[in-house]
Amino acid sequence: MPWCEPCERFWNPGSVTADGACPTCGAVVAGPLSRSAPRRVRAPWHFWVVLAAAAAYLAWRAVQGIALLL
Ligand SMILES: [Zn+2]
Repeated sequence: MPWCEPCERFWNPGSVTADGACPTCGAVVAGPLSRSAPRRVRAPWHFWVVLAAAAAYLAWRAVQGIALLL
């Protein structure tokens, strides 16, 4: 996470300039490589566990709701 010391704030890697400088004061806060070769961020495994559990729960509640109508 690029941190600008003079401005005392964090910058999103996408909001710094192309050469990694702070858009407000121009100080270099990130390497230019982080912009030209963005890392592909994958969701952690427990995200998919929670997503599967939520889908199973909602499917079961849908079954219950439909059964209530019959
Ligand atoms: Zn700055």
